[in-house]
Amino acid sequence: MSALPIPIVAQEACAVKTGPTTTSGADRGQREVFCGLTGIIWLHRKMQDAFFLIVGSRTCAHLMQSAAGVMIFAEPRFGTAIIGERDLAGLADAHEELERVVTELLSRRPQIRTLFLVGSCPSEVIKLDLARAAQRLSQKYTPQVRILNYSGSGIETTFTQGEDACLRSLVDHLPARESSKPHLMVVGTLADVVEDQLRGLLNALGGFEVDFFPPRRSAELPGVSASTQFVLVQPFLADTARALQGKGASWIPAKYPLGSEGTTDWFLAIGKAMDLDESRVQEVIRAPRERAVKAVAAHRATLEGKSAFFFPDSQLELPLARFMHQELGMSVTEVATPYLHRGLMAPELAAIPQDWTVHEAPDVDAQWDRCIETRPDLVICGLGLANPLEAHGLTTKWAIELVFTPIQGFEQAGDLAALFSRPLRRRMKLAA
Ligand code: SF4
Repeated sequence: MSALPIPIVAQEACAVKTGPTTTSGADRGQREVFCGLTGIIWLHRKMQDAFFLIVGSRTCAHLMQSAAGVMIFAEPRFGTAIIGERDLAGLADAHEELERVVTELLSRRPQIRTLFLVGSCPSEVIKLDLARAAQRLSQKYTPQVRILNYSGSGIETTFTQGEDACLRSLVDHLPARESSKPHLMVVGTLADVVEDQLRGLLNALGGFEVDFFPPRRSAELPGVSASTQFVLVQPFLADTARALQGKGASWIPAKYPLGSEGTTDWFLAIGKAMDLDESRVQEVIRAPRERAVKAVAAHRATLEGKSAFFFPDSQLELPLARFMHQELGMSVTEVATPYLHRGLMAPELAAIPQDWTVHEAPDVDAQWDRCIETRPDLVICGLGLANPLEAHGLTTKWAIELVFTPIQGFEQAGDLAALFSRPLRRRMKLAA
């Protein structure tokens, strides 16, 4: 049996006819929360032979340095080529400068196998053509180093789109797969420990080959062919998914592997796509699923009956709200997301209460008023809103923590619940 054909559609192109109400385009509100450079923090940890060279300003360098908490004596796998005043004024040839920086970097770090030139707001404002730069530099350094480019600019993106843009740039370089055996590609950056757990269970299912994308070594890209079916672990990879479909791979619709229910559905969907008996899948996942249910239950006492409110930030909002509702017994006052990709979210939209309203890119001022008025027990929001909301006596959780922390899979279900119960416990202790 093959996976479903392509229901991945352009984000604004379709309206949901049934299911939860969505407010796409109604507000024309906020999508751009934090910038796509942030993705480098988890991407550089994953691909250990890759380097991310941000072509940006001192602001970009400071953002990365503080967000990644890099120690000055460490040699991180990212850096910033700072666009100076001479470049901005057009007095220097920015391409020549960039070439000089790249030459220096590659001679100092011969272990680099993939170099990403990452665009930023300033590089886009001065119209620096990084695609052309990557192409020219590739001619010089292929085959030792693959040089790619993508945009991490915050001008028109939200922060998780950085990973999508990075993986999209790699898809064009995936080799054709020779074998016609059933092949599963798990798409989205995972902490190594989570990857190992999922790989162990997928191998135990048997009957197909498994690759993870991105791989730990960027020089060892997995192959793709018409026998490849891919499943996502992150909901914000729409461009990557479309590009994989363009290479003949097919998408396996599934909930995202968050919580015991989401992870169970994820494995069952893979089993179905690979023509495995459901009883076989249930048997393989029984023990870790039971552990997950138990771990989540330990937090349910704190969270059951509490209300949550989501501001748009990480694009994880919908699966997280589903987890809170389904497994923690919480009510969700409002769920908003910067982008709502109805195709990739279809299994999640089907799993949430059908009377919910999902706000896509809402007007955040109006949302703020609703939040203050309804006074939910827990608000999941971006960094910029957290302190003012706390000042109003509300309890918050930074959405970005949910991207930095390993939360996918059965073994992490309890940690995911803890991310929500901890701020409430802290608030209770302060109030006591
Ligand atoms: Fe700021 Fe843009 Fe640089 Fe991001 S890319 S740090 S938003 S200037």
